[in-house]
Amino acid sequence: MQPDTSAPRLAKENSERSDLRARFARHIALQEIGLAGQQKLGAASVLIVGAGGLGSPAALYLAAAGVGTIGLVDHDRVDISNLQRQVLYTTAEIGAGKAATARARLQALDPALRVEAHEVKLGGGNIERIFGRYDVILDGTDRLAVRYLINDACVLLRKPLVSAAIHRFEGQAMTYVPGQGPCYRCLYPASSDALVPNCADAGVLGVLPGVMGSLQATEAIKLILGIGEPLLGRLLVYDALSLAFNEFRFRRRSDCAVCGDSPTITRIASAEEELLSTIQEWTPQQLANELRDGREDELLLVDVREPHEWAAGRLPGSVHIPLGTLAQRTGEIPSNRTPVFICAVGGRSMAACRYFAGLGRNAINLAGGVTAWSSTYGAPPRPEHEHHH
Ligand SMILES: [Zn+2]
Repeated sequence: MQPDTSAPRLAKENSERSDLRARFARHIALQEIGLAGQQKLGAASVLIVGAGGLGSPAALYLAAAGVGTIGLVDHDRVDISNLQRQVLYTTAEIGAGKAATARARLQALDPALRVEAHEVKLGGGNIERIFGRYDVILDGTDRLAVRYLINDACVLLRKPLVSAAIHRFEGQAMTYVPGQGPCYRCLYPASSDALVPNCADAGVLGVLPGVMGSLQATEAIKLILGIGEPLLGRLLVYDALSLAFNEFRFRRRSDCAVCGDSPTITRIASAEEELLSTIQEWTPQQLANELRDGREDELLLVDVREPHEWAAGRLPGSVHIPLGTLAQRTGEIPSNRTPVFICAVGGRSMAACRYFAGLGRNAINLAGGVTAWSSTYGAPPRPEHEHHH
């Protein structure tokens, strides 16, 4: 048995809910949980960052399990393309705010729960106030900058973190417990990991986050109860195509920027600010204006999409460096020109910007990518001389 790491507040005798024994009979029947464990769950609080593909199953199972306080951070609205995997939402809720919609769904499941909707964009300015109120943090975001921010905040605020990520047919998960194991930055210290497209760009099997989000809920419940072996220093990798779970062991790095022996990240906002200060985001209109004003000699339009996307049409004057090859080909972007990274909707290009920021170079992201450009200026032309791959 693991020591109880999440320090949940013990339920007060007089706050025991009337339906406790009936509703949670199958938990109470487990020797490892019992009535005392169920009361611990009722007294515990879990924050889920991102009420999306991972956050949906995690929130539903934590609510069903009787975790007394559940927080949801999301500032997005329900989109029809979310419904393929975000099982908290229905067709009737398209266009509604995710956090508030999810709260209503969880309250319907169990009206005795306290569910808090945080409809904000998580950042250095609000993360400490929000995280401070919860025992365990679940990271269900799909943006890498936020993933590092959450990790750093959990290390600095000494909060247990259950992290998961999904990509195409593959999922990853790991758990961080302060003082007991390595953090996410120990696993992926450098921003080269930024060269991973998010699922808005890359596609994802809809049921995949169902598996990974359920694993996150499992870890949170174990941490609250202090039972079993958490995913400490172990990266769990799930490959849905081969239906295989693999595990990679990793250690705390003494040179880790946030949990190492002499950390360089000592405040929550610093990592985010340092990385993002060299990145600008331009709308298609801003880019068009800059090009019209004759700044093309100072800029280099770099399209980081895959070859088939590039072949279907590209912005005039752009060069093609697929995201996966950027690390090897940074030399093709002259130091006297600032790259304007371009992809389909702006996710992969932001990853490219982050990579460049990590190298200490300025970079500009075309917000909304070719999709946004096309809606303003029409679809970019297909190349005159088609290359065959
Ligand atoms: Zn670390």
